[in-house]
Amino acid sequence: MLLRHTPQEITERKALMINPAKTCQPIGAMYAALGIKGCLPHSHGSQGCCAYHRSTLTRHYKEPISAATSSFTEGASVFGGQANLLQAIDNIFTVYEPEVIAVHTTCLSETIGDDLPQIFDKAIKEKKVPEGKTLIGAPTPSYVGSHVTGFSNMVKAMANLAAPGGKKNGKINIIPGWVEPSDMEEIKKIAAMVGVDINMFPDTSGVLNGPLTGEYKMFPEAGTPVADIKDSGNALGTLALGEWCSADAARLLDTKCKVPCSVLDMPFGLKATDRFVDALRTVAGTSVPDEIMVERGKLVDMISDMHQYFYGKKVALVGDPDQLIAMTEFLVSIDMMPIHIVTGTPGKRLEERIMEITAGMGRPVNVRAKGDMFLLHQWIKNEPVDLLIGNTYCKYIARDEDVPYVRWGFPILDRQGHQHFPTVGYKGGLRLLEQILGVLLDRKDRDDPESKFELVL
Ligand code: SF4
Repeated sequence: MLLRHTPQEITERKALMINPAKTCQPIGAMYAALGIKGCLPHSHGSQGCCAYHRSTLTRHYKEPISAATSSFTEGASVFGGQANLLQAIDNIFTVYEPEVIAVHTTCLSETIGDDLPQIFDKAIKEKKVPEGKTLIGAPTPSYVGSHVTGFSNMVKAMANLAAPGGKKNGKINIIPGWVEPSDMEEIKKIAAMVGVDINMFPDTSGVLNGPLTGEYKMFPEAGTPVADIKDSGNALGTLALGEWCSADAARLLDTKCKVPCSVLDMPFGLKATDRFVDALRTVAGTSVPDEIMVERGKLVDMISDMHQYFYGKKVALVGDPDQLIAMTEFLVSIDMMPIHIVTGTPGKRLEERIMEITAGMGRPVNVRAKGDMFLLHQWIKNEPVDLLIGNTYCKYIARDEDVPYVRWGFPILDRQGHQHFPTVGYKGGLRLLEQILGVLLDRKDRDDPESKFELVL
């Protein structure tokens, strides 16, 4: 038992967090920045943070992750990191030649109080930013929120590039939130099927799930071009997928450039995808094409074919708020019972949404924002579940409690291929159900007595 010190009896903790269900802001900002074409993320702080965040993204995507750091020493930690950042901007544009540097901060530079806009101003005045190149930045204090907050802050900094007053471009902005590169591909595919001309940012498809060509490219031919991000201020509207990840950027485009926005749930599962497709259809003024109806029909078919295995199964979930909301709704819609739900990201709204979604189940549900996996494990000890869904860190609980387990979310460090298969949209719903069914039926095959060991299920 790897987690044998986790007691069944729950003692409310005020100061101690064990096995957090989150990580810190800068990694989210780094991931978002990789969705800009030709962008080198830059971590303004000491170099350990940058090394850690690069290595976690590499372990998740099995791809090289490029990022630079201001590499603070003790001196910079006392007197401020301005000189380090100015030198870094100069070096990066000279040596690596990115189109964009996207700077985020760490808890060290935030505690010192380094003023990014002032340092950027100085860099531009001193001509350290070559003509036509872009410098953006977001404060990402690690002691506020989580990696999700950092993602949101960097996406908001992207939206801040948009300038008001241009000619309308006839497009719809889509801010996809923190989803996999394959999910971003799927979102673009759905929009194209509905016939909507979109401008999506960030877009990590092709950056973090690209092919092996024999030639290393620090900046793949993918990601959202800066010109498109600037043009997002001229769009007809914005669809922001996920309140936590995308709403701030969408609202900034609304207030700054008068681009009206709708904040939707991330399109995981049947109902949330329905709402996304309906929103696209409404803005495009079209009807839903047959090919989407066919995809939807396949998902409904699979749900009805396999419903007997889903019905009444208790599920424990861990993840990030936007994903958890849509996943909980999906599970409830197929008559599963998500009963223990944890995120490390703060925000009471998650608890309210989950309570609303699960109200019809007619039984108590444990949900905790700013919780941890230690608590989730204790809940499972007190009321066991049939299925656990979450990132790689769940594998310890799954092993100790002998629970069927589906890897989903961030990070997945011990399996490959997830970045190639979407879990959003109807297609993604099929994949999620295939994974869920796979582990449930594997368990049934393992546990059934020989007399009930069936060939056909
Ligand atoms: S918590 Fe602070 S020191 Fe630790 S990795 Fe995050 S930014 Fe760096």
